[in-house]
Amino acid sequence: MARYTVHGGHAKHGNKFCGAVGFCSESLVDRAICASVISWLKKAGHAAYDCSVDSGISQGNIITKIKRNINSFTNVTANISIHLNACKKSAEDGKVKGCETIVYSTNTRDAVIANRICQELKHLGFTNRGVKSRTDLGILKGIENGGANILVEVFFCDDQDDYNLFNKVGVDAIGKAIAIGMIGEPIKESLMRAARPTIKYGSKGDEVQKLQLNLNKVASAGLVCDGKFGPKSVAALKKWQSAAGLEADGVYGPASYAAMQRLL
Ligand SMILES: [Zn+2]
Repeated sequence: MARYTVHGGHAKHGNKFCGAVGFCSESLVDRAICASVISWLKKAGHAAYDCSVDSGISQGNIITKIKRNINSFTNVTANISIHLNACKKSAEDGKVKGCETIVYSTNTRDAVIANRICQELKHLGFTNRGVKSRTDLGILKGIENGGANILVEVFFCDDQDDYNLFNKVGVDAIGKAIAIGMIGEPIKESLMRAARPTIKYGSKGDEVQKLQLNLNKVASAGLVCDGKFGPKSVAALKKWQSAAGLEADGVYGPASYAAMQRLL
């Protein structure tokens, strides 16, 4: 198991210093991508921590706070800063400007990971602008948790073609691509299934409680979230499975899990 930190590069949307705005807001999208990257890293069995910061008195102050969060973790493999690029508002012209990654020096393992992230995003259709070196960015300096430091400009938020592609592929595919690039190997779905027990009548524990919470959330099941999968939980699961077009067998296995993940 490796450890990673991920953050959105600016303040939260609506606050000062919240980044670029084009066809979408950088800080709204970067946080959505962060959340997806973290969930994919966790699905692959790794630890991942969100180090985003909501506000600050300047962009420099926000970076300082983000770095404080990042430095509170030790033995980290990589620290990833999620951004959207912006240049000049560009109408649809059939050309996706695409993604780039930035590291302090291109002659490092940081650049190896950065290159993998670009390659994975390229598979989704984003033009690969490559790995660039910048020695002037605060976020790429002064981090002491052992991790590689990589800033990802996922796409251009002010380019209509980039924005169209973003909408087409979606946040989840982008999050998965970045996570695979970070890890350096495919995320094995079989491993994900093995790590997650099937839940049925009589099951107990944290996973049961999570499912009860989720059934309350997506189906207003009104369950007591006690971590015990009794008759009421089974009935609520069957009702939701039926409504979701699944076999209503009251057994929460991979197909139900995948359907639930799409709703959360
Ligand atoms: Zn930015």
